[in-house]
Amino acid sequence: MTSSTMSASGRQPTIAVVGGSITGPVTALLLLRAGFDDITVFEAAPASAPLGGGLIGLEHPALDVLDRLGIPQHEIVAHHSEAIVQINVRDRQPAETIRRTYPGRNTTWTLLHQALTRRLPAGVLHSGMKVTALAEEAGQPVLRFRDGHTAPADLVVFADGRSSTGRRLLDPDRILRYAGYVAHRGIADITPVPGLRDFLRLQPCPGVQFNLAPVPGGCDWTFYLNCPSAEYAQRFGADPIRRVFALPRHVSPAARTHVDTHADLLLPAGHAAAVHTTTRMAVPVLDITPPDRMVWPIGTGHAVLLGDALAPVRPHTARGANNGIEQAAGLAAALTQHRKYAADLHGWQHRHLPAAVAAVHRGPVIGRRLGLGTHRPPPPGNPPREERRWLPHGHQDHRDPRRRP
Ligand SMILES: Cc1cc2nc3c(=O)[nH]c(=O)nc-3n(C[C@H](O)[C@H](O)[C@H](O)COP(=O)(O)OP(=O)(O)OC[C@H]3O[C@@H](n4cnc5c(N)ncnc54)[C@H](O)[C@@H]3O)c2cc1C
Repeated sequence: MTSSTMSASGRQPTIAVVGGSITGPVTALLLLRAGFDDITVFEAAPASAPLGGGLIGLEHPALDVLDRLGIPQHEIVAHHSEAIVQINVRDRQPAETIRRTYPGRNTTWTLLHQALTRRLPAGVLHSGMKVTALAEEAGQPVLRFRDGHTAPADLVVFADGRSSTGRRLLDPDRILRYAGYVAHRGIADITPVPGLRDFLRLQPCPGVQFNLAPVPGGCDWTFYLNCPSAEYAQRFGADPIRRVFALPRHVSPAARTHVDTHADLLLPAGHAAAVHTTTRMAVPVLDITPPDRMVWPIGTGHAVLLGDALAPVRPHTARGANNGIEQAAGLAAALTQHRKYAADLHGWQHRHLPAAVAAVHRGPVIGRRLGLGTHRPPPPGNPPREERRWLPHGHQDHRDPRRRP
């Protein structure tokens, strides 16, 4: 990181965060706490957009970051279980049970997003601002928006999720691939297990997994089922790389029938009934070429990728939000160190990249064990860690983002 990213003139660096879901607001709040005060979060969705999301397990390091942001656990954790209960299902009846301790707690996207965004000071979050391009102008990164606006920054933090514009601009060779199965999910207002407190993982047979956990207002379920790409397009209106989240309005009657039929065949009757009553969504499970960098110099400034923008991982790893929050905390620490001692952002990359790469690799291993998805050899790229050449300190390298569309 050059001194001008942090502003040699002594003025505060201008930091633009792209994405206002989880990783983006966590980054902004941590940087504000660290004393950086020129921060804007740009979110594509309009403020009026209906928001909501399902269960997210957060491990202790991520919970600790939220604690430091003054978010008490009771605000985001409705049930204090630390257990994952794995249940083999035979003939639609629960059979063997294994109980494990999860090193964390469950929240929901909705609770977490609300807790974060309500703590952003007025004027920090700009909704309805979709970033379309990143250019270098007068030696500085400049964001361009769909409505024609531009915003210069010393540091651009892309936290814009699975279909990240930042990743497309900075690291276009890393492509998403459909893994061959779908996480159907919903929040049922009836609970098939009286007094449910733990996270339940039901395994009726290879190629199927059903997860259930209590959330405010009912229970969150996720039903993993194999699905060829062409069938995904028929059921949800577009191919899985284009429709990376299928909202309730995208779920066709055929998709509902597909899920209901499998629930009736494979799950205990109460669980199937809960599925039947639920408005649902679907998330195609995707893999990505593992990242080999997180930082790009743009003139005298920088752009970085964080969270799902860097590397969306399979939901079974339960690492997506954890990675984003841990990377955000590391970035805030690195920038704070830099302000005092001229630390280098590549140190942050060196520290956090291995965990992101490991989670990308772990997803297909879990999928294979569960009989979920199509099994291809691991994606090329990313030689073992010791063989990788890290960018030397302050190295100004690489592709010019201006030539990207
Ligand atoms: C079924 C399921 C279960 C999961 N369980 C877990 C779990 O237990 N633990 C865990 O850690 N993770 C879990 N995850 C993953 C977790 O939900 C994601 O990793 C997390 O939401 C990623 O957060 P993010 O802020 O990085 O990206 P996102 O939540 O995808 O947010 C990106 C934001 O950027 C905005 N945006 C996109 N493009 C632009 C643009 N061009 N300009 C401006 N804004 C833009 C979007 O509108 C969005 O608000 C699960 C995921 C699924 C599907």
